[in-house]
Amino acid sequence: MKYKQMMYIVVAAVVMQIGIIGCRQKDDRVVTASTAETKKYERTDVAMGTVVSETIYSTGEDITADMITLLSEVENQYMSWRSESSEIAVINDLAGAKDGCKVSAETAGYLSQILEVSAKSDGAFDPTIGYITRLWDIDGEDPYIPRNDELQTLLKQCGYQKVELLGSQVTLESGVSLDLGAAGKGIGCDEVRTRLAEDTKVSGAVISVGGSILVYGEKPDQTPWNVAVTDPRAEDGFLGILTLTGEHYISTSGDYEKYFIEDEKRYHHIIDPQTGAPARSGLISVTVLSQNGLLSDALSTACFVLGAKESISLLAEYKAEAVFVDEDRNVYMTNGMKEVFSLTAKGYQIQEMDW
Ligand code: AMP
Ligand code: MG
Repeated sequence: MKYKQMMYIVVAAVVMQIGIIGCRQKDDRVVTASTAETKKYERTDVAMGTVVSETIYSTGEDITADMITLLSEVENQYMSWRSESSEIAVINDLAGAKDGCKVSAETAGYLSQILEVSAKSDGAFDPTIGYITRLWDIDGEDPYIPRNDELQTLLKQCGYQKVELLGSQVTLESGVSLDLGAAGKGIGCDEVRTRLAEDTKVSGAVISVGGSILVYGEKPDQTPWNVAVTDPRAEDGFLGILTLTGEHYISTSGDYEKYFIEDEKRYHHIIDPQTGAPARSGLISVTVLSQNGLLSDALSTACFVLGAKESISLLAEYKAEAVFVDEDRNVYMTNGMKEVFSLTAKGYQIQEMDW
């Protein structure tokens, strides 16, 4: 099948503004003395199949390379269905086996949170749509628009209820396959946070793993972190700026990250588990702010599928905030988001939502 236009945007969905933007080359490292003792270490590299940008303030050694190693380990040991040795790949291989398989405490903990978001979002977030995303292969060399009967067949093999987690024992029904792509980068941020907290010399950090960002600690001058949200229709530009103090996790899901256009229709990578096709909730981007990386990532995907209005109760359950952009360039915010987000892009208008 020939496609008239094919575009992949694998660069971070959200980029950080101050301090990061000047060092976005691969393997580019910058060290700046910020104060007498605290050094600012910066690196832009690739891990988890995406661009990772780091700024770390520390009185100790440069640990930016350790974070890349850590993220690659998380990807290869736990998360990736592509990596044969990962726990997710082993779980998938044993789909249909009566006793399933035993996984590490980390994987069990992450799966438990993922299955909870799946249930609370009524399946808008569903980690079992693996075979459907693989059939579309939106980010592959030869993406494919499946026929409806193909989707209907695969939809029968999907459903988070087909995953059973008892302690550290995971059982998948036959024909089911896990894909944790919608939460993996947030999990990466959680793992990085744990590692940063072990290093008492680190006083602050901003780490961006694709569309998921961690802000941690504080800057030496104690000014707030400024995090720019990507303009969904001008990816080199910013929709606006989040001004944050303390620790936060920010994730964006958008229809501009991985997509192709066929017959003037955009086919993107966020699938509505009810139809098996790209979600058409009217949104083009959702950014979620939360106190946990996995949650910010999983919720941004869930909210993209649900649409703005349907997302509110889910966000409230997790005490998360969001900014939504719809296809008419209206921008909607939850109350907490209004306090920290400033719209800067032209051509968008803030609207009050009748929640
Ligand atoms: P994100 O960019 O975090 O929204 O994640 C999108 C990725 O998650 C896709 O590339 C798929 O691998 C996977 N995915 C797509 N739709 C869903 C969904 N409804 N629930 C869970 N994972 C999904
Ligand atoms: Mg996500």
